[in-house]
Amino acid sequence: MREGTPQRDAAAAGVDCPPPRPPAPLTAPSRRLACPEQAVADPRPARPGSVAVKRSGSSVAVVGGGLGGLAAACVAASRGHDVTLYDKNAWLGGKAAVLHEGGFRFDMGPTILTVPRVLERIFAESGRSVHDYMDLRRLDPQWRCFFDDGSRIDLREDVATMAAEMDRFAPGQGAGDGYRRFQAISEHLHGVSEKFFFWKPVQDLFDTINIRENMNPGTLKDVLSLRMHASVASTIRGKVKDARLAQMLDHFVQYVGSSPYGAPAVLCAIAHMQAAEGVWYPMGGTRAVAEGLMRLAQDLGATLKPDHEVEGLAIEKGAVTGLRTRSGLVPYDRVISNMDAVRTYRELVGGEVGRSYEKKSFEPACSGVVLYLGLNKRYDHLAHHDFVFSRDPEEEFDAIYRRGEPAPDPTAYLAAPSVTDPSVAPEGGEALYVLVHTPYLRPHHDWSTMLPAYRQVILDKLKRTAGMEDIEERIVVERHLTPADIHSRYKVLNGAIYGLASHGRIMGAFKPGNRSREVRGLYLAGGAAHPGPGMPMVMMSGWIAADTLDRDARGEDLRTAS
Ligand SMILES: Cc1cc2nc3c(=O)[nH]c(=O)nc-3n(C[C@H](O)[C@H](O)[C@H](O)COP(=O)(O)OP(=O)(O)OC[C@H]3O[C@@H](n4cnc5c(N)ncnc54)[C@H](O)[C@@H]3O)c2cc1C
Repeated sequence: MREGTPQRDAAAAGVDCPPPRPPAPLTAPSRRLACPEQAVADPRPARPGSVAVKRSGSSVAVVGGGLGGLAAACVAASRGHDVTLYDKNAWLGGKAAVLHEGGFRFDMGPTILTVPRVLERIFAESGRSVHDYMDLRRLDPQWRCFFDDGSRIDLREDVATMAAEMDRFAPGQGAGDGYRRFQAISEHLHGVSEKFFFWKPVQDLFDTINIRENMNPGTLKDVLSLRMHASVASTIRGKVKDARLAQMLDHFVQYVGSSPYGAPAVLCAIAHMQAAEGVWYPMGGTRAVAEGLMRLAQDLGATLKPDHEVEGLAIEKGAVTGLRTRSGLVPYDRVISNMDAVRTYRELVGGEVGRSYEKKSFEPACSGVVLYLGLNKRYDHLAHHDFVFSRDPEEEFDAIYRRGEPAPDPTAYLAAPSVTDPSVAPEGGEALYVLVHTPYLRPHHDWSTMLPAYRQVILDKLKRTAGMEDIEERIVVERHLTPADIHSRYKVLNGAIYGLASHGRIMGAFKPGNRSREVRGLYLAGGAAHPGPGMPMVMMSGWIAADTLDRDARGEDLRTAS
């Protein structure tokens, strides 16, 4: 792709010269040190604004500076570990990168921030407030939806308001009542997820449910209520009959790059998470999340090393002892990998374990094409977040998730952030971001030849369904991101945006666990690890990996464990 130079990206990311911040209150870390009896003061000189975190003597490397890796680094540093984070790229934040071009500023990856509670918890680990690091604004309507038949509806945060809106949109079908019942199921599934999946290292059903301690009638009821017989699509259509409204609700599961027809019903929980906790925009763009975490990590004394690719892990007698870069071996007590979980095993661990992961059939989540369009005018009929829906969701999802071909008439997601943050574009302009999901990379996909024709399919869709007939004349700056770019920039599996697909009624909810069962002292964080992809989940996964590491460090020494 054509994009900002690494240097520009690095500068934009604030890696070399983070802007000075007023020091946050210097409260003691909220959690105990890893090994209190060994704690020694950090011998390094304190940076301005840094907290005097006591060191435990436990050295931790984080491989990858995506949001999951940054979150893990912050939590491990808050708990008193001596943290060094490596990323192969010149910028940190991974997919949460930024592109500056011709006076426009584009978030290159994630744009919809939900469940800010996860960020709050990460910052609270060191007694700090996320609100001292970023300015979060709540957006309502959450999305504006454009359908193929020319109709439109706004997704509103409040369930009662949305239900009334749906009754107006599809009169006489009980749509509002159906939506309320769908949200009730979603709320229940959210509660079950909090209980069994969130904030703990999980790889399979046995990790979530301690059979001896928890197998009581209440747990059994919770497990049965996971609706393992049902998919996301069938759960939605059981409550909401209008095809357009069902198509809109299907798209919550696009946050994890999976087909609503293949994803387990438990993922309907995303709808309640969004209704209850809102959609947020950090002023300055979602890039501000990565920058806030970077500043926190530095304030806590972590060392950040962009431009440092990790080539392998050093493993002795089944336990990690360090890592290898092109400069040689660096010893560490423990390692958290934010590299794609499957590629971590195949490429960093290798050996027998790596070969066993070669044989496992993990399905990557979908990929995508992004057009970054600097426009010389704003479209006033767009909201901050917009979905321009395909003519037929079955045709669309069949193409992307079963046939492995780009959808002939795709759904396009648009971010038009100037409505909230005019600094994204020169006055009166728009930094329009257009994302269309595509299949993960197959051997015959060559996006250097596929992109020109598919770009036209996408622009024609916007003209036809979103009232943007003159879009081609309004473009003054244009850049692209293709599945091939995603693959090489972020070292993911087959260009997947969202890690591993959540397909399968039972196993669809499970990903590789955060504490490696194969290598002692190795932990996993990121979209291809538990609990899965999307900003809040990868940051939660970073918290879980660091929390598990910290608990292990305080308990039995892993290296001496049999
Ligand atoms: C176009 C797009 C749109 C998206 N939209 C949204 C959205 O609106 N809302 C949302 O919540 N989520 C969205 N997502 C998903 C979200 O961005 C990801 O789930 C999340 O950012 C992934 O974080 P991660 O921690 O898994 O790491 P990544 O961002 O994948 O970063 C991993 C890092 O590891 C580094 N790395 C890999 N291997 C090595 C190695 N060997 N040595 C050193 N470094 C290494 C890579 O360079 C990379 O920086 C979107 C993603 C994309 C691409």
